[in-house]
Amino acid sequence: MKKVVKFGGSSLASARQFKKVGEIIRADKARRYVVPSAPGKRNDKDDKVTDLLYQCYDAASEGRSYKKILEKIKGRYEEIVDGLGVNMSLDPAFESIEENFLNKAGRDYAASRGEYLNGVIMAAYLGYTFIDAAEVIFFDDAGNFDAEGTDKELSERLEHIERAIIPGFYGSRHDGTIQTFSRGGSDVTGSIVAKAIHADMYENWTDVSGFLVADPRIIKQPEVIETITYKELRELAYMGAGVLHEDAIFPVRKEGIPINIRNTNRPEDKGTLIVETTVRKPRYTITGIAGKKGFCSINIEKAMMNAEVGFGRKVLQVFEDYGISFEHMPSGIDTMTVLVHQSEFEEYEQSVIAGIHRAVEPDFVEMESDLALIAVVGRGMKASRGTAGRIFSALAHARINVKMIDQGSSELNIIIGVKNADFEAAIKAIYDIFVMAEM
Ligand code: ASP
Repeated sequence: MKKVVKFGGSSLASARQFKKVGEIIRADKARRYVVPSAPGKRNDKDDKVTDLLYQCYDAASEGRSYKKILEKIKGRYEEIVDGLGVNMSLDPAFESIEENFLNKAGRDYAASRGEYLNGVIMAAYLGYTFIDAAEVIFFDDAGNFDAEGTDKELSERLEHIERAIIPGFYGSRHDGTIQTFSRGGSDVTGSIVAKAIHADMYENWTDVSGFLVADPRIIKQPEVIETITYKELRELAYMGAGVLHEDAIFPVRKEGIPINIRNTNRPEDKGTLIVETTVRKPRYTITGIAGKKGFCSINIEKAMMNAEVGFGRKVLQVFEDYGISFEHMPSGIDTMTVLVHQSEFEEYEQSVIAGIHRAVEPDFVEMESDLALIAVVGRGMKASRGTAGRIFSALAHARINVKMIDQGSSELNIIIGVKNADFEAAIKAIYDIFVMAEM
């Protein structure tokens, strides 16, 4: 059994957290390949080391004073090294970092030092082999991730190494310059390593006990999702429910490796298991609810629209011309509605309306702003009758007017449009009818 374990910034923010991580790794022999993030926040007011590194680099490369921030960063690592009782000096590493900052080694180089140093410390603490991600994770000259080259190098290197630490978030281009993934990218590194070694499991350790059925800012202590499929996750993540970097899914999904989201502060919790398919029934009819505010709808009406071939294409072409992507497009016999992000649309509003008039000569065009979309997602909906009925009667009881309904034929989700002002109440009503009532 081989596991790749990735630890997020809050799991490695201090010596105290590092010790918890050490215990977790030692508790399971299969946890052979470890991907650390940089030290994150220890409390709400704290800084992430990655942010401090960006600030420090900007100051140093622009000739402003940077020593104070650099000392602060060094202090974060010293607390960890001292607290763990690891016998090592950080001086040489910080001297070369300072020199490279002054020589303008790049912002990506700067940010990457956060995970690099955490990796070096962790390797010394656990007695694992340290592998610099720059030697095994590659980007091409245009800055795109080189999946093939990386997979080959990484699998060859790790084949003969029993236990290794590979820092997250960065790699190198062919010319040797350091490049990072986008923020939160250590999740991606973990997934790439899991694929390369054909891991049985990719454990992603963070500070929550998995994906929650609904947003905890709206629902007090929502239930944790035990098992979720990649497809369901995609639907929820699209609507803003995020624990995992989006790009972390593809490498492991291709290989059929499950991801287990776990909580470093509560290792006894099982967390959420993300899988391709499962015969495990979800605990409730629905798997999760997520949503977003800030949409608007453009409703286009024209008599005999149904007979006009190409009507929809012409309308959508106008949106495309202005670079606006559409979210949903429910339609009637003589009407079609296009839902878009209000912030993307506002700037071009009048031009788009004029464009639609020119393209299809509608009878009239009407707009409505301040709409929210809610996705009710669940593989369990396919097998049970009356899900839609329950959702809409719950919304009716809560006196919420439904503006739009969209259910794809996959029966994996139902999307509901409501006014922004009804957003929270709608989520509460749906949560109650499925989770509270089915408990
Ligand atoms: N340390 C990086 C960040 O703050 C990457 C990561 O934590 O995954 O974005």
